Amino acid sequence: MKKEENFSEWYNAVVEENNLTDKRYPVKGLNVWPPYGWKAMLLIDSKVREEFDSRGHDEVNFPLLIPEDQFQKEKDHIKGFDSQVYWVTKAGDNELDIKLLLRPTSETAMYPLFSTWIRSHADLPLRVYQIVNTFRYETKQTRAFIRVREIHFIEGHTCHATFQEAEGQIAEDLDIMRGIARALCLPFRIHTRPEWDKFPGAYYTKAIDTVLPDGRTLQIASIHQYRNNFSIPYDIYFEDEDGQRRPVFQTTYGLSERMLGAVVAVHGDDKGLIFPPPIAPIQVVVVPVLKKGESEIIDKAAAEVAARLVAAGIRTRLDSRDIRPGNKYYEWEGKGVPLRLEVGKREATDKFVTAVRRDSGKKQSIGTASLEKDVSELLDSIRENMLRIATEREKAAEHRVANLKEIGPGLNIIWWCGNETCGKTIDEKTGSSILGIPEWKTSGSGRCIVCANETEIEAVVSKPM
Ligand code: ZN
Repeated sequence: MKKEENFSEWYNAVVEENNLTDKRYPVKGLNVWPPYGWKAMLLIDSKVREEFDSRGHDEVNFPLLIPEDQFQKEKDHIKGFDSQVYWVTKAGDNELDIKLLLRPTSETAMYPLFSTWIRSHADLPLRVYQIVNTFRYETKQTRAFIRVREIHFIEGHTCHATFQEAEGQIAEDLDIMRGIARALCLPFRIHTRPEWDKFPGAYYTKAIDTVLPDGRTLQIASIHQYRNNFSIPYDIYFEDEDGQRRPVFQTTYGLSERMLGAVVAVHGDDKGLIFPPPIAPIQVVVVPVLKKGESEIIDKAAAEVAARLVAAGIRTRLDSRDIRPGNKYYEWEGKGVPLRLEVGKREATDKFVTAVRRDSGKKQSIGTASLEKDVSELLDSIRENMLRIATEREKAAEHRVANLKEIGPGLNIIWWCGNETCGKTIDEKTGSSILGIPEWKTSGSGRCIVCANETEIEAVVSKPM
């Protein structure tokens, strides 16, 4: 399957053929995680946990079902989600007095409890996160990891005494994103979403977008400043040092399985997946290349290599199945294993292995004396190379455009007056949308691409996936 010719078909084929997902479950948009795909997701989750935990966030787990009356306390929030909610109206034979909904996100499950957890300034900041499934009735065409109805979701929720402290949390969230993205070898951009596209109920939303190979962009995470928008309706107040009762300031952070979708889309090639070593379910596959009559020494050498790597903490698979080595190479390349080690007669006798990199296809010999160290260094070098290639491609996708006709695939940098009417005109006339205001700022000014009014605002336009 050619990635460049039909990215969409390539993506669908590559995630199913290589056991990342199984879409045959009888409910559309509720996909099954087979072992290989689930392992990759859990490795991403581990990285997320490491980043959150090391910054003082605690993991929690709230119920899946939310009562309707709690959900309706924040009007803007329900307005944004009500068309996407799954409802539970019966329990056994009984109609429920208060309907329950499957969480589309957990603000309205958590915040009634936060109002009991937080009493005084000594209880702040409160910083928690959970990794759970959420449900949203998606009406657009579903796509594995990218647009699903049951979402593997990571949500961080924080409460602070002041707006400034909440702003500090958002800056730290961006650092957390940098740490995660490094493991995924994914370049990303931060855009403050326009007013009409922010999270329902938020004061503002910063989104993390990455560029896909077909020039569209994918939002892989979002960070929201809520100010007091939720704490007032949910009664999350604290007593400050002067004994005054004040509402807390809140932020949230949402990440999801889309990170895995982005990894597949950005790094894969015509042969299949390419996993960044930090999250590869199998980092190294060891393949004995057997010749008749010499299998014993080769098998033994290959098993020893694999055992040493496992002992060194490297996720290694010894593939001793009785099929041709060529078939094994094909399969593991498809599954995106970053490094293959071949052990044949010459390798076994002369004490080395032949290493083949998945990112570049390059072959090299590694002496078994320094096996663990050399393999680790190779995996590091693969990670660096993957990030470098992806970053170069992302840079190449960025271009400045001076009129609507020039807007095309990739990241289009424009001057924008800031008005919603002009923003919506871009949508209507080009099919691309304003992603938002980038973090960087060019000094100077230009003319709005739609109304030609003088402006100092630069915005990024793209076609979101
Ligand atoms: Zn304008």
